[in-house]
Amino acid sequence: MKGGDGERSRVRLCSICKQRRPALKRPKTLEQICRECFYVVFEEEIHRVIVDNNLFKPGERIAIGASGGKDSTVLAYVMSELNRRHNYGLDLFLLSVDEGITGYRDDSLETVKRNELQYGLPLKVVSYKDLYGWTMDEIVKMIGLKNNCTFCGVFRRQALDRGASLLKVDKLATGHNADDIAETVLLNILRGDIARLSRCTSIITGEDGPIPRCKPFKYTYEKEIKLDYFSTECIYSPNAYRGFAREFIKDLERIRPRAILDIIKSGEDFRIATSTKMPEQGTCQRCGYISSQKWCKACVLLEGLNRGLPKLGIGRTRGINSERQKDVQQIGVKNLQSKACGSLDF
Ligand code: SF4
Repeated sequence: MKGGDGERSRVRLCSICKQRRPALKRPKTLEQICRECFYVVFEEEIHRVIVDNNLFKPGERIAIGASGGKDSTVLAYVMSELNRRHNYGLDLFLLSVDEGITGYRDDSLETVKRNELQYGLPLKVVSYKDLYGWTMDEIVKMIGLKNNCTFCGVFRRQALDRGASLLKVDKLATGHNADDIAETVLLNILRGDIARLSRCTSIITGEDGPIPRCKPFKYTYEKEIKLDYFSTECIYSPNAYRGFAREFIKDLERIRPRAILDIIKSGEDFRIATSTKMPEQGTCQRCGYISSQKWCKACVLLEGLNRGLPKLGIGRTRGINSERQKDVQQIGVKNLQSKACGSLDF
């Protein structure tokens, strides 16, 4: 038999529409599907996650944490599209943090400004300079490249909360994807950080705090989050520890694509013994932000910067001079360990 039906039957077709050629293989299901069907199933999967987990209620004001990177750009697009298509009745906003990193954040903020116009979502930018009096460029000039991500991560977390309360939103949606969450599960196990392990897989966190956060991309593979976006790496690159965990997860994914979802499932299924002491949440005596210590992490780090003692509260207390010991005791803070890029810190 030449050409015609015989030829067509040998050509692999999209496993959904059975008409077009497949353009990609889905890591979750290994299905080969065409681009058109991919967009439909991708958006409907996010819709299902939103509905099944009751992420939003009609009438709510929602801020989308927008960094200008691929995850948050796709999140802004999908959220505005689903809000319109399925009548969620949400008031959506974009919320960005300007850390003051020349050549990185100033460029990516341009992308966020484009998103503001493209999707018609009002944008609010909060900056480290306005909130804390320091840019990351100035902090790095003072402390070097060793603990910069600890400062940045702590400041970003609080900056997002402060921006969200300025916008008077009910929730903050972030673009953390399945790969990010699997990585965080692994890191929290490696660090023995039980308090974080128990909450890092939750799709909604901080419900007892001022602004709950949710992750509509919790089950979405990074590979599938693709759109016409601008992306670059921070010039003060994140520390190597998360980088190793990320590589390890990518290796596992190559051998067995389901590994990412399985790690999340393992994190979800961990049971924390009732005898495990969890930190009690209170408020910072200085700025009123949630804190399990006398001062919140941002106030401790700022105090160090403003007093020219940038290592205050970072690293181990053993071997530090008696003056800093006294400072640490007075502030009543446990020392912060340097972590990876705070944009991934839940
Ligand atoms: Fe901040 Fe991330 Fe850059 Fe570190 S890598 S300085 S946490 S943006």
